[in-house]
Amino acid sequence: MSRDTLPNLYDLSLAEMERLMIAWGQPAYRARQIFHQLYVNLVDSPLAMTDLPLALRERLVAETRLAPLVPEQVRVADQGLTRKALFRLENGVLIESVLMIYPDRATVCVSTQAGCGMGCIFCATGTLGLLRNLSPGDMVAQVVWAAREMRRFAAERHISPSVTPPDDDSWWTPDDLEDHRSSDVRGISVSRLSNIVFMGMGEPFANYDRWWRAVEILHDPRGLNMGARSMTVSTVGLVPGIRRLATETLPINLAISLHAPDDALRSALMPVNRRYSLAALLEATRDYLAATGRRVSFEYVLLQGKNDEPEHAVKLAALLRGEAGTVTLPPHLVHVNLIPWNPVPGMPLGRSERRRVLTFQRILRERGIACTVRVERGVSIAAACGQLAGGRGVEG
Ligand code: SAH
Ligand code: SF4
Repeated sequence: MSRDTLPNLYDLSLAEMERLMIAWGQPAYRARQIFHQLYVNLVDSPLAMTDLPLALRERLVAETRLAPLVPEQVRVADQGLTRKALFRLENGVLIESVLMIYPDRATVCVSTQAGCGMGCIFCATGTLGLLRNLSPGDMVAQVVWAAREMRRFAAERHISPSVTPPDDDSWWTPDDLEDHRSSDVRGISVSRLSNIVFMGMGEPFANYDRWWRAVEILHDPRGLNMGARSMTVSTVGLVPGIRRLATETLPINLAISLHAPDDALRSALMPVNRRYSLAALLEATRDYLAATGRRVSFEYVLLQGKNDEPEHAVKLAALLRGEAGTVTLPPHLVHVNLIPWNPVPGMPLGRSERRRVLTFQRILRERGIACTVRVERGVSIAAACGQLAGGRGVEG
């Protein structure tokens, strides 16, 4: 039997691990010990689970898989505060994860698919097409990598208060220098991974079942114990996924990629809009807000001359305020996050100038829409969320 067909420990919830132990004639509490070793001690092999009997450790090695993700490459920016890892999965496909360390939190951006089938015209991942859905274990393992990385970061900082930048000067650009001011290592107090955003490669709601299993494993208080409110999922706008999320018991945060204030423009940027129009998307959002009472954030990537004119901002405000003849959303539950587009080599698109970004923001704010501009990380290493392409020819 090929090892690929053995159960992957990172795929199993605690309940499933308990069933496995019982099937093996072991007491159920062994599962809790294994869970603790995997997600609190972050061990990388069953042999390191020294509180288990040796025979059980050996059986785990023989009959299960534990495949921690070992990066083929880690690129670093922002004085070590942004780390992008490239992983090769067991069947050879490449995925990326990004760890972003801020003064008060540390966030990992997780991929949910290798490639993506949604074809948004501005997205590096979209150019790959869908290569494969990731398993829950593939997603959990990315978070375990980040948790380990944070453990190392905290230990290094304990020894020396400054993190050494990489030797390779070619990674440092004027953009980075700008970033340094907003991400000074000295102010960092966070010592463990605190947040997860499902904004890496892929569309989470196109892989909903596996994604949700990962969320449950990550949330388990006996394991990584990630609070539901510390996790955010971003969707291109798959309406059935939004409706389903509204029924889940764990209050995960929702971000919706909007990127345009009308159907014609949105369909030109995002083919998914031909399947789920803006009206359908906003209806699902309205129902989600009514069911959960939780705030939704709309992401809006700014593309110079395409969707960043003042008239687009005016139209967007009207749309969200229900003045466009569509759905009315409760204004206090709506937030717009403007994202200056991160250039992808070869794409005939431009990044909006700062002045245009600020004008866009002002117009929305004047109309009562809460609006922020996303703080950028890792631009020089192509590490921005949604900019990941598995190292295939899109890195600057
Ligand atoms: N598939 C999901 C989640 C992954 S993309 C989605 O589309 O929402 C996460 C975010 O990054 C999305 O808002 C996406 O539109 C945005 N994005 C994609 N490519 C980008 C780029 N080159 N620069 C800036 N943001 C980008
Ligand atoms: Fe897929 Fe999101 Fe990229 Fe669109 S923006 S192609 S949905 S990863």
